[in-house]
Amino acid sequence: MTEQIRVRFAPSPTGHLHIGGARTALFNYLYARRQNGVFVLRIEDTDAERSTDESVQMILHDLKWLGMTWDEGPEIGGPFGPYFQTQRLDLYREKLEFLLERGSAYYCFCSADTLEKKRELAMATGQQPKYDGTCRRLNPAEAKARVQAGEPYVVRLKIPDAGSTIIDDKIRGKMVFENSVLDDYVLSRTNGLPTYNFAAVVDDAAMKITHIIRGDDHISNTPRQIILYQALGEALPAFAHVPMILGSDKTRLSKRHGATSVGAYADEGFLPHTMVNYLALLGWAFDDKTTLFTPAQLIEKFSLKKVSKNPAVFDPAKLQWMNGVYIRQLPAEEYVARAVPFIIQAGLLHEPLSEEQRAWAGRVALLVKEHVKVFNELPRHVQYFFGETVELDDAAGEKLALAKERAELFKALHQKMSMLESFTHAGLEEMMKAFIAETQVKFGDLVHPLRAAVTGRANSPGIFEVLELLGKERAIKRLAAGLASVGINIAD
Ligand code: GLU
Repeated sequence: MTEQIRVRFAPSPTGHLHIGGARTALFNYLYARRQNGVFVLRIEDTDAERSTDESVQMILHDLKWLGMTWDEGPEIGGPFGPYFQTQRLDLYREKLEFLLERGSAYYCFCSADTLEKKRELAMATGQQPKYDGTCRRLNPAEAKARVQAGEPYVVRLKIPDAGSTIIDDKIRGKMVFENSVLDDYVLSRTNGLPTYNFAAVVDDAAMKITHIIRGDDHISNTPRQIILYQALGEALPAFAHVPMILGSDKTRLSKRHGATSVGAYADEGFLPHTMVNYLALLGWAFDDKTTLFTPAQLIEKFSLKKVSKNPAVFDPAKLQWMNGVYIRQLPAEEYVARAVPFIIQAGLLHEPLSEEQRAWAGRVALLVKEHVKVFNELPRHVQYFFGETVELDDAAGEKLALAKERAELFKALHQKMSMLESFTHAGLEEMMKAFIAETQVKFGDLVHPLRAAVTGRANSPGIFEVLELLGKERAIKRLAAGLASVGINIAD
């Protein structure tokens, strides 16, 4: 039997779930599902100053929103829990003892001040700053006595002086690091809390993680972690470092490039499916033509072999395009359920809505379904359905001005519309056809000014649907007001 694949996503809860983190989570998730493995979620909250419970909640919420359910982790537990590092401190202490006893780690009493001075000196003389090993040379018994006497200390890992450490990366291939460039890094801080490198390795080993898939910004940590695995006598997992995500200007994706958190994209009106599909393409490709994948297809097709070494570029226009595709595919009911809250949020309608208002707002939203790429654009598309009057934009003003040459015709149209009993798109269309046949006017010559008057715009969805949803009273009032604005008084 081959061993079961176990992967983990290990966020530090110091803010929102970012695009990069979500992409790392997704690659782990897809790999686990593809391999019938286990997807573990572990919260790395040992940075007491920066970790917050609020951030844990946001991360869990956003992962669920993306549909990435974990098999072990917060809320559900599992056989290797607890899954919050601050609840695993005993284990780190035990492993620290183990390393100290075996002489693989040592107490260090160098003050932050002294270290800083040495660091500055190294920089000034053009050397790579590195811990100089002062405390490594201390007699262990003496060091222990100083600890017992209450002197503040950290614990450092002894890195072998010679030799090299190799990462056999599933994505990037072999990478060799000379041990002499790695310094004796801190495992446990003065406050007794473990550092990231220490806690992560202890947990990855204890949780039997078989594959570590994470951002390539961690490559420099990996040789340090490999040496720690060896010191702990643990088997090495496989490593796969996924490429970083850049903005369109080829610098690392950051706030300058727009929203970077998953929650912000959700708030703007991106669909979870879009985000998952788009995130999957940040560094992974199935072939060079397919871009649209259902979550099931991503699981079926995902492999680490097709993850690129090269940075991925985040392209907001492609993300928007993709969201438009998935919005168009939504069943009407789901589309409406997602769309109407954006109309309310924009202040076009106010809660509580009657059933009738809600249904009407849904029909209004459906009318522009083909045009909406992100839900937060929806209010802009449908604004003219709300309120009594409209303001004409310049293009609409030009269209409406064309009515001037046909004052009598538009007065007659106003009259016909006022008399129309069945003010439905079908009724309106029928009336309009008869009117056109009777007057021999061209459809556009009639409809362009009409549309301008009732919507304030030169373009809109089908005019008959628009008129029906505006309702007779408002439509006629707007037409009269529009005509009046170009000097046609319907009462004359
Ligand atoms: N807590 C680390 C981070 O958020 C995890 C890195 C890792 O996957 O090892 O960067």
